[in-house]
Amino acid sequence: MLETITVTTHSRNEMVEITSKVKEIVKKAGVKEGICVLYTPHTTAAITINENADPAVAHDITDFLNKLVPHGAGYKHAEGNADSHIKSTLVAPSITLIIQGGELVLGTWQGIFFCEYDGPRTRKVYVKIMEG
Ligand code: ZN
Repeated sequence: MLETITVTTHSRNEMVEITSKVKEIVKKAGVKEGICVLYTPHTTAAITINENADPAVAHDITDFLNKLVPHGAGYKHAEGNADSHIKSTLVAPSITLIIQGGELVLGTWQGIFFCEYDGPRTRKVYVKIMEG
C-alpha cells in the first residue's frame, strides 16, 4: 500500500507540519508493529522531524538554512535554484518512523515536517507502511 499526502506551500522556504496526516494514514492501515517510510519525490524539498511545540523552532531552522545556503550566490546551475537543491540534500528527502502499538513512536515535542525550498508549490509525500 502506498499512500500520498498532498502539501500546498505558500512561501519559497517553509516547513509545513504533516504529523496529523501521517498519524491518520497509520491508523487507517491498522498495523500494530512496523515501519513507516516517508519519502518526497522532489529535488528541492525535504522531510524532517523536529520540535512542533514552539513554531519559532521551524522558523529558526529555515532562517539558518537560508543563511547557510544563500539564494543566488554564484552557483553553476542555470535554473537559478541551486540553493533549493543543496538544502534538499542537506535535510534529506526521506525519514523512517517506528510504529508500536498501532501508533507512531515520536517524542513528546517531535513533529513531522515537510520542508519546502522552492515554493510556493503543490508537493507530494509518499507514505509506505510495512508490518513487522
Ligand atoms: Zn534546479
